[in-house]
Amino acid sequence: MDRKKGFIRKTRQRDLILKTLRGTDTHPTADWIYEQVKKEMPNISLGTVYRNLGKLAELGEITELNFGSKYSRFDGNAENHYHFVCTECGKILDVKGCKVDKELEKCVEQNNNVEVDFHTTLFYGFCSDCKNKKG
Ligand SMILES: [Zn+2]
Ligand SMILES: [Zn+2]
Repeated sequence: MDRKKGFIRKTRQRDLILKTLRGTDTHPTADWIYEQVKKEMPNISLGTVYRNLGKLAELGEITELNFGSKYSRFDGNAENHYHFVCTECGKILDVKGCKVDKELEKCVEQNNNVEVDFHTTLFYGFCSDCKNKKG
């Protein structure tokens, strides 16, 4: 194993970024993660955070969510799951209690002569807070 200082620093940065992301379920932007990580590593740059997020996504440790908005959001939960987007406040929630639909994948495969790797589904509407405010 490579024990050079640079390697260890890189690993520490990546570990901290991963820990920060796994510690929240808000699906934050890279900027938010940068602000959190900076508290522990004041010298880290936004570019480093971006690079590490890209690397972690490549390794399958995290998921990069791109919902057609300007900024990618990141998810510390790499297991496939559905998301709910609140059209009122913009919050992104993990859908709980509903499993990823494997039957749907089979249906797509059988009817289209393709092999499905995974699928994502987005639900839009009002989150519970906004639903209550709406009355
Ligand atoms: Zn909301
Ligand atoms: Zn999620």
